[in-house]
This record gives sequence, C-alpha cells and structure tokens, in this order.
Amino acid sequence: MIRFETLLEKVRSYSPEADLELLRRAYVFSALEHKGQVRHSGEPYLVHPLEVADFLADMKLDVVAVAAGLLHDVVEDTLTTPERIAELFGPEIAHVVEGVTKIGAIPFSSSEERQAENFRKMLLAMVDDIRVILVKLADRLHNMRTLQHLPEERRVTIAQETLDIYAPIANRLGMSKVKNELEELSFRYLEPKAYEGLRAKVEAKRKMAESVIDGLTRTIRAKLEDAQVPVTHLDGRIKRLYSIHLKLKRQKVDLEQVYDFVALRIITQSVRDSYAALGIIHQTWSPVPGRIKDFIAMPRPNGYQSLHTSVVSENGFPFEVQIRTEEMHRRAEEGIAAHWKYKEGRVGDHRDERYFQWMRQLLEVQQEVRDPQEFLQNLKIDLYPEEVYIFTPKGEVRSLPRGATAVDFAYTIHTDVGNQCMGARVNGKMVPLRTRLQNGDIVEIVTQAGHKPSRDWLTFVVSSRARSKIKHVLQGEERTRSIELGRRLFEKEARRFDLNPKTVLESEELAKFATEYGAQKPDELLAHIGYGKLSPRTVLQKAVPGGQLKERPQDSAVVSVVKRVLRPGRVTSDKIKVRGTDDIMVFRAKCCNPIRGEKIVGYITRGKGVSVHSATCPNVLNLMFDPERRIEVEWDTTTLDQAPYTVRLTMQVEDRKGMLAEISAKISGINTNITNMEAHTGNDQRGRIDMTVEISDVKHLERVIKSIKGVQGVLGVERTARA
Ligand code: MN
Repeated sequence: MIRFETLLEKVRSYSPEADLELLRRAYVFSALEHKGQVRHSGEPYLVHPLEVADFLADMKLDVVAVAAGLLHDVVEDTLTTPERIAELFGPEIAHVVEGVTKIGAIPFSSSEERQAENFRKMLLAMVDDIRVILVKLADRLHNMRTLQHLPEERRVTIAQETLDIYAPIANRLGMSKVKNELEELSFRYLEPKAYEGLRAKVEAKRKMAESVIDGLTRTIRAKLEDAQVPVTHLDGRIKRLYSIHLKLKRQKVDLEQVYDFVALRIITQSVRDSYAALGIIHQTWSPVPGRIKDFIAMPRPNGYQSLHTSVVSENGFPFEVQIRTEEMHRRAEEGIAAHWKYKEGRVGDHRDERYFQWMRQLLEVQQEVRDPQEFLQNLKIDLYPEEVYIFTPKGEVRSLPRGATAVDFAYTIHTDVGNQCMGARVNGKMVPLRTRLQNGDIVEIVTQAGHKPSRDWLTFVVSSRARSKIKHVLQGEERTRSIELGRRLFEKEARRFDLNPKTVLESEELAKFATEYGAQKPDELLAHIGYGKLSPRTVLQKAVPGGQLKERPQDSAVVSVVKRVLRPGRVTSDKIKVRGTDDIMVFRAKCCNPIRGEKIVGYITRGKGVSVHSATCPNVLNLMFDPERRIEVEWDTTTLDQAPYTVRLTMQVEDRKGMLAEISAKISGINTNITNMEAHTGNDQRGRIDMTVEISDVKHLERVIKSIKGVQGVLGVERTARA
C-alpha cells in the first residue's frame, strides 16, 4: 500500500509549487468520510482513493485531478454532498468529483457493439472536463487490478463493461498503456479458461522467443550503429495475450501457426532517424507486403504516431517492428494525459491551445473509419455534436438529435409506441410530451391503445422519423374524415333526389365514372367530395342513367348542401351551432381560439368540417376570398356545458418586485383559475409575463384583462393566439 507522504513527494517532484496543503486536507477528509468502510479485499477503503490519486500523480496530473482522485468516492459512498466538497475544496474539484459520480451511476447493461458505442459517446457527451474521464479511468484501473476479491458475477459484469466502454475510451484518448492493461485484465476475468490456456502456451514458448528477440535486437543495434543512426531505446517483447487472442480468433488458427507474436520497438531521436531505421530494417530482412504503415505521416485518429512494419528473419521467423521518436512514444503511452501535465513555469495551465486543438481533432474523428458512408455519418455526429443520449427503462441507449422530446423518443422505440403515446416519465417523474430530453435521462413512455398523434406534435418534434410518422397518421386521419364528410354530403344529396345512396354507390355507372375520374374506389370519390374538389351532385348525375336530376339554382354544391339540405337546429360538440345544419364537424380555429360570446364566423374547410374563427382574426380576411365557403355560425346558448376555455395572455410590465404576485392575486380575486405563468426579464427594465387562464366567456375575459390593466406597472395586455 502506498503511503500518503510518498504521494505528496511524487506531486512535489513534478510540481514544486503545487498546493500540497490542499491535498493533505483532501486526504484527511477522505479518510474521515470512509472511516470504517472496508474493501472486498479486507483492506480499509481509503486504500482505493489513495491508489487512484497515486496513479493520477504518475500521470503527472495537476492538484485538482489528484485531489479529485482522493475524493472521488465520497459523494457516492458517504453522506457528503457536492456542495460540501465545493465549500471545502473549491468548485473545480467538486465539479470533477460530481462528474465521476454521475458517470458511475450510468447503468451499462449490454455488450452489443452499437449499444456500447452509444454508451461511450454519451459518456463523453456528459463530460465537460477531461479530468473527469482521467479520474474515472484511474478508478477503473485500480478496481480491475483488485477484481479477484469480488464475487464471480460482479467480476464478469465489471470486466465486460471495462472491455466495452473504458478500454475503448482510453484508446480514444490515446492512452495505450491504460487501454492495454484494462484489456488484459478484462480478458483474464471474462474468459478465464482461454486466458489461462493461452498464457501457458505462450509461457512454453517464452525461452525460445526471448532468445530470438535477443538475437534480433543485437543485429539491429549493430546495423543502426554502422549506419550512425542513434537510438534512445531498443527492446523486444512478446505481444500482449489479449492481442494474440484476438489474432487467433480473427484468423481462426492455433498459436502453433502464429509466429508473429513478437514485437520490437525502436525509439529514435528524430523523425528522420525513424525513417532511416525503417530503411535499415528493410535492407536487413524482407518486409511482409502490405504490413508497412506510416502513422507518422498519417497519425491515427487518436493522435498515435509511429512507423510499423513486419519482416521475416533469415530463419523464417516473422516479427513486427515499431519505430517512433521519444515524444511520439510518450504520447502513445499516455495519450491525452501527456497534454495535461504541468508545464515548466506555467503551473496548471491546461488551457493550452495545443491541447484544445488536439481535443477537437479527437472529437472530429472519433474512431477509425471503415467506409465513406460511415465517415460521413461520423463527421456529422462529431463536427456537430448535436445529439443526446437517452435510456430506455431497460437500460438501452438511444441517440436522438439535440432538442428531442419524449415524442421523438417514443418513435425510436416503435411506430405504435409513438402513435399511441399519451405521456412520459422522465427519471420517474411525469412530464409533458413536449419536454426536451437531456443526456442520460431515463425515459418511459406511457401509451394507450387507440390514441392518435396530434397535429400539435409537429410544432415540437425534431427528428425526421417522428415528423414523417406523425404526418402519415394525420394524412390518413384527414382522409378518413374527408371520406366521412363526403359520404354524408353525398347521402343527403342523394336522398334529396329520392335516390338510395347505397345503390348509387354500388352501381356500374358510378364505377365507370370513378375510372374516368381516375379514382380507384368509390371511397376516393367520397374523399374528393369531402375535400371539396368534387360536388356530390356531379357524382350523382354521372351515376344516374341519363343524368336526369332536376336542376335547381344554387351557389355551390357543398355550401348549398350544408345550408339548405341538412336539418336545422342541432347542438354541436363545441358549443357552436352552425345555422341550419345537421351534425357537421365544427372546431374552433387554433389561430385565434375564439371563446364563448365572441363574434365568430364559420368557414367550410376542405375535408375537416367547419372551422370557427373570431371575427377579428386576421386569418378570416384571407379565408374569405372564397365567400362561398363562408357559413354563419353562432354560440349555442341552450347548452349547459360551461367548461372553461384556455386562454393565453401576454403582458408587458415594468420590471419590479412583487409584480407577479400582485397580478396573480388580482386575477384569483375575480375567481379565475391560472394554469400556467411564466415571467421573462428583458434588459431594459421591462419584463414579459406569459399566463394561461381558464375563461368561461368573452365577458369574463374582458373582466380579467381590465383587472390586469389596473395593476400599477402593467404596460399592456394582449391575448396570445395559441392556447
Ligand atoms: Mn472508486
């Protein structure tokens, strides 16, 4: 177990000006908080944060990261709050600790590749300080190193998560040393038999391999010396078990057939020397075609630079050689951590331009690209990090465009779930469907069989999938309504001429006309009547042999039917009577949302029934270019249904204290229910208040507006179009 004093010494050695007192306080605090807690190994819990901090110090990270390492488990495992950490150690450390805690709370549950990739992206999307990831990786590394103490089931879960999520993240960040160790450990616990078998086989070959390596390095050293190419370091090693394992699996062969399990590494003093060394290697042994890779000229997406080649020795032994400069080597081992360190004389200056540039590149090319299509997709995702990652209740991750709502999410699950969604539970709480989702939200959709999408959804959904599915349903609905309306109009017209509508619809003549008209089925003719494109009488004339209908003067077929044919006087569903009509569909127009008592006008729409506008609605003017479609409507005064209307008011006010309270008191004082209220402050001492109230009729509304105007400081009140 490492001692705290050793850790302090380590930090002091690379950062003489570091605030060691802060580290000491963090250590004491962590010790107190974790007091009495024990690890599975039986050791005191404190060993863990201390090891994590030590690893961060090995990476020569700043005091914030090291302190966060000491404190990383206190919020999760003790009663300490992030606020308390901020109070004691400052907002930066608290922020990192909170980030680590949040990541730890994400329940990873699937090893499916696509899911794993979404998890990785979500994780990175949630992190705004790279030190969060570095602490988390250090945490994971120590947990993996001590995994043998956990029960088997936990071992497998953690190892799988490590292999799927954390090793690839370490790789993405260019931290090959961490990535390699995480992979080796994961392999060991996930496939203990394969691991042991392979280890034994490699062990058996070790002596032979080592003597081969010895001979090869001696030859290379001599050759490089002759050519006066200085090297800083030259060594050979047996490849990692996990990478041999992958290779055996990929090539479906046995270790006996794979000789290429030895790798040599040459560290040079300059790029020029690297290329020179490569030339010398190729002069000495034959290179394997297709295995020469120049990652110096074309670095890997994670910033890795090196020359790779595979050659075959004189006695037929193939091996790999990697050649790179010291600087490249350091970055290959430590990756992003190498960019984070203290710089001489610029203690803790992490806002280093080079670092940010590198980070940006990382985000731009998140992974190795296999085909152009994928490249474009990745480019889109990465250059415009405009996605959110959302959990299903089962722990699957879905990616959605930023700004996506519960409805967008519902459609990613299934079209039916989208169509029938009624509500949503986000992190266990019911929210409106239009709620914008945040990274990491767990979303559950509440559905009801037979429920239908509303046109309103189109105003807030952002995914093209949801949009097209909703439109599809709405169009279908509209068609159904048009057919219904068309059928009704057609039937009335037929009865007027003493014809049986059913007989007419099934007649040969009608079928013939339908074909001429280009309609597949009689239904389509009815839809056209409903849309107002075709008059019912035209259809009747065509369908009756000889077309012997008695002519009568009229303005327009549709309107005449509505105005004269239907029986008068019935109350409609929306407290509005259409003068002289039967049960025609009536709805209040959304643009002006007229309320009881207001002057209104009706307009026969194409296929959706009669829309009722306030007489003052600006849309009325536009609609009235077609006077034939205008129809008189009036409020039904006989109905007992006095359910209130929802009305939205917007007021401009002076920005002063108590304004909101005063207005709401006034309104409540005249028995009016406020269902929603929002205040917005401008920068010119003015504010805006948006309010939704329940109104029974136009007189009531006038009273409400008058009372608001009576409040001192109110500059204006307006009724807003949409409810
Ligand atoms: Mn931990």
